[in-house]
Amino acid sequence: MLESESLNGFTGFAQKDRAQFQYSRSVEKMNEEAQVEFEPEVLAEIPDMDRRWAWAEVSLEAIRHNTIEAKKRLKPGVRLMAVVKADGYGHGAFECAKTALNSGADNLGVATVDEAVRLRDAGVTAPILILAEPPITSVPLLLAKRITPTVYSPEFALAYAETADRHHMKAPFHLAVNTGMNRIGVRAEDIIEFERQVNFHRALVQEGTFTHFATADSSDTIDFNFQARRFVDAVRALHTAGVDPGIVHAANSAALFRFPDVHFDMVRLGIAMYGCHPCEQTRGAVDLWPAMAVRARITAAKTVPMSEGVSYGLAYRSPGSVKICTVPIGYADGLSRLLSGRIDFIVGGQYVRQVGAICMDQCMFEVDMRSFGSRERLDPQVGELVTIVGRDGDAVVTLTDMARTIGTIDYELACSFSRRLPRLYV
Ligand SMILES: *Cc1c(COP(=O)(O)O)cnc(C)c1O
Repeated sequence: MLESESLNGFTGFAQKDRAQFQYSRSVEKMNEEAQVEFEPEVLAEIPDMDRRWAWAEVSLEAIRHNTIEAKKRLKPGVRLMAVVKADGYGHGAFECAKTALNSGADNLGVATVDEAVRLRDAGVTAPILILAEPPITSVPLLLAKRITPTVYSPEFALAYAETADRHHMKAPFHLAVNTGMNRIGVRAEDIIEFERQVNFHRALVQEGTFTHFATADSSDTIDFNFQARRFVDAVRALHTAGVDPGIVHAANSAALFRFPDVHFDMVRLGIAMYGCHPCEQTRGAVDLWPAMAVRARITAAKTVPMSEGVSYGLAYRSPGSVKICTVPIGYADGLSRLLSGRIDFIVGGQYVRQVGAICMDQCMFEVDMRSFGSRERLDPQVGELVTIVGRDGDAVVTLTDMARTIGTIDYELACSFSRRLPRLYV
């Protein structure tokens, strides 16, 4: 009977009570009138953190500290490139680039044309290198925005040079040398041949020559040494052939802190700038401050009777005497579903166990309501602060812990925190 009279989407009460229907219409009208009373400026002023109780905090102080620690280890004259690809490893490319440049970085490195364009459009004037060869079709953008490409194919080099020449411009590039990682670059033994193929073009300017290490973070240094030697030989061959290699660079974060011999003219600082150690070996070498914290506030807190389940699948069952709290962060925010039931959050300086499947937008954790030992009894309430990554009191959860739990690296977790989580710069 109720279903029989759905009017314009109004169901239920509308079916035989016309007054209800009219009431609904008038609410609509009232709302329309009210809308004009909410000034757009007032609405815009409601901070991100008051719209959604989950966010990522980025400490620019940490970025600054880590950049300075890297710079300190370089001989005078050695340049520091801040790698801000993938939106600054998820920390915000523009903010991190600005902070790094103000803390001693000279150059910026990104992965894509759009990443570089966004920095230029935000007003960044420092040299920007794309760490791979972009599509030939993007050449006009590179020239117009003064973005330097990595080059390793003669086709790209010549198309780039031709376009530059037509606009009476130079075509600066960095040559990528493949010394063993076999990702990109001209094979070390082929670089003289490559130079012969492109060298005649007057617009081309070899502004740099670089390689990338596959195992700079490994305890075994055989492959690393092999790559380093090949690179040194390749650069020497360029000199012998009368080619100026420009800025010679090879080191990522791991090599920067472990192997000063490969600093050459520039180092490329990535993960360590964001406060994560690329490997165990760098822990003794530098004190890095983690730049990212992920926090939320409790949106629901309730006791759940013994043996009742929690979240999709009800795989977790309440043992009784626990409070189950909900936070509005889920796998759509980058909190991988693989972490379900395998991580701890922090409330009031104490670890609490995440329980049940992590949902798209929310997840739950368990708080033991019993008091035992000297442990302070927790009784979390709606609105209370929860730390998902970062420090709270003496307790700390690192991206590295989290990454290990699911068999990946902190690089992946950092850049997977989605843009839906507002970034709060502190
Ligand atoms: C990402 C990247 C880096 C930075 O590496 P980290 O390990 O994060 O320091 C350096 N060089 C190249 C070519 C890269 O792609």
